[in-house]
Amino acid sequence: MKLLVTGGAGYIGSAVVRQLVEAGDRVVVFDDLSQGHRAAVHPDATLFHGRLEDRDAIDRVLAEHRPEGILHFASQTLVGESMEKPFLHLGANVRNGLNLLESAVDHGVRRFILSSTANLFGLPERIPIDEETRIDPGSPYGESKFILERILRWMDDRFGLRYAALRYFNAAGAVSPELGEDHDPETHLIPIVLQCALGQREKVTIYGDDYDTSDGTCVRDYVHVADLADAHVRALRALDRGSRTYNLGNGRGFSVRQVIETCRAVTGHAIPAEVGPRRPGDPAVLVASSERIRAELGWAPRYGELRQIVESAWAWHSAHPHGYADRGPAAAPS
Ligand code: UDP
Repeated sequence: MKLLVTGGAGYIGSAVVRQLVEAGDRVVVFDDLSQGHRAAVHPDATLFHGRLEDRDAIDRVLAEHRPEGILHFASQTLVGESMEKPFLHLGANVRNGLNLLESAVDHGVRRFILSSTANLFGLPERIPIDEETRIDPGSPYGESKFILERILRWMDDRFGLRYAALRYFNAAGAVSPELGEDHDPETHLIPIVLQCALGQREKVTIYGDDYDTSDGTCVRDYVHVADLADAHVRALRALDRGSRTYNLGNGRGFSVRQVIETCRAVTGHAIPAEVGPRRPGDPAVLVASSERIRAELGWAPRYGELRQIVESAWAWHSAHPHGYADRGPAAAPS
């Protein structure tokens, strides 16, 4: 298939591009490189440097490349930031998504994959969280993704656009020592803890230890980025049988303290930690039920153990302590 991947230079997008290219798909990456990295773009993919605010740029790339499907990763993604700057998320994520969808419909694109989020479930009424769990977004970021999910239902209803909404729990790990996570500023737990192991940070701050969990710290479901990528490829191939929505996680929760302990064990470094205040927008526990995608598409995580996820992340971070700044200009996936 010929595919357009927005945000294909980013952490999850680049992992998906790699699997698509390896499966023989032809990929055009649309990215403004504000958060992504040129070196993360697969050498066999075409990079179109453009902004989703620019409808003309989207029209041009769709007219030129005529993709059969779009995978949409490019987005503001930080829960904490969205609590401080709600318009950034509600505005940019929804407006850019609409630009992309309107252009997609105008150019006859019939397949669409949306990166959605576990943050749709702000205070989940039950754990694990399946697709029937009541949606009540935990932040403006989660709300922006829910609005896009709702819009997609109408795109299907009105224009026959087949979509998959994939709600990631905590994406983590690295596809290879050459392709991993590199955010600036870094806010995610595992890379922050590993930066402590590298001596780049003095300590990690635990955001609250008074939650109603076994050790008082927040519990999350960490899922390997290569397993997420596999889910995208499967969902894309299934779209001709209809639109679909899946929660994507390992189905097991680990507390912030357990993650830090695992990082200590994998790296052999002490990694000092101190307890700080809660971070606004953080639910106590988010653990997925991914039974639906397992049953319907035969998906199963290959990296079920937190230790495997941390080991792969450590292989990337220790090989590239400054991320893509340590890499050459062209991607060379191993
Ligand atoms: N967290 C933390 N200290 C940090 C970064 C994150 O205690 O420096 C916690 C955060 O409150 C959450 C969990 O680690 O409970 C995972 O956070 P992350 O930002 O990695 O992902 P999110 O759950 O926000 O998608």
